[in-house]
Amino acid sequence: MLKVLIVDDVTGNIKILQQALSGDAKIIFATNGKRALELASSEKPDLILLDIIMPQMDGYEVCRILKADNETKNIPVIFITAMDEVKDETKGLGMGAIDYITKPFSRAVVQARVRNHLDYKRQKDMLEKLCSIDGLTEIPNRRSFDQHLEQELRRNLRANTPLSMIIMDVDHFKPFNDNYGHAEGDRCLKQVALTLFKSLERSGDFVARYGGEEFAAIFPDTGVEGLHKMSEKMRTAIVAQNIPHAHSKTAEFITMSLGGITVLPTNDTSPNKIIEAADKNLYKAKNSGRNCSTSSEYKTSKEQVE
Ligand code: GH3
Ligand code: MG
Ligand code: MG
Repeated sequence: MLKVLIVDDVTGNIKILQQALSGDAKIIFATNGKRALELASSEKPDLILLDIIMPQMDGYEVCRILKADNETKNIPVIFITAMDEVKDETKGLGMGAIDYITKPFSRAVVQARVRNHLDYKRQKDMLEKLCSIDGLTEIPNRRSFDQHLEQELRRNLRANTPLSMIIMDVDHFKPFNDNYGHAEGDRCLKQVALTLFKSLERSGDFVARYGGEEFAAIFPDTGVEGLHKMSEKMRTAIVAQNIPHAHSKTAEFITMSLGGITVLPTNDTSPNKIIEAADKNLYKAKNSGRNCSTSSEYKTSKEQVE
């Protein structure tokens, strides 16, 4: 069930809305702006009904803060307010609210509008999911990886914790395709993806299909030791699948090379630089005989010694 956050300083108003909407969504509520912001980021509601006139922080201010934060800016906001002048409504919609309902409101109208917005939200979530999943392997795709890396770099910067990342590439995959055929190649990629996905340990760990036979993983709050452990876990998990590859120059089964990087994010850590550094390590692993991993700690440009 989708979740709706109702924000109003008058609990009587919350009760009326709660009664009207409880059949359509799970209702949570806040009676002031500060609490509303807390719930918006911890509970990730699907829709926010926001009163404008409230003591301390008013609804406009709450909306402004929500829209300025990457993690909450996409939550749809509907103002529900006694301020019924055109200029108020224009201001509210101009701040990024999707709708504006004036008090006193009709229960049926609020119900109908909220239902419509919840339907849009459902469809939007579904599209987003479809756009972020790789069609062949059914794990996240590159678009999703890019978003995730950016988000995790920010999170680890705030927490002052290291982040580790791996780019990996199936060894001698061209001769596999050439000899066993493209369909068998596809099956192999699916099996590799599933194996990598199953080898993740923590809920924050993430793996995506980065390109053709390339995969990439992100490990938040993970330093050098954790990276080394996960690289070996993934490499050996692929070996253990024992997918026959009679045309590989490395082994008689499918293997993978991995390039890892650990970074303590700073304000100017760019995702591209991190990926580039991991890619360099992948190249080194390829040149060290494949079926192995190379990793390093990322240094900012001042510290970086080539
Ligand atoms: P290396 O060990 O250096 O990585 O050699 P490689 O042969 O794996 O590398 P190369 O980049 O030459 O070949 C990658 C191959 O992956 C070529 C391409 O046909 C195949 N490939 C990429 N995407 C797909 C896909 O979606 N399905 C299938 N079946 N094959 C794919
Ligand atoms: Mg490749
Ligand atoms: Mg390859």
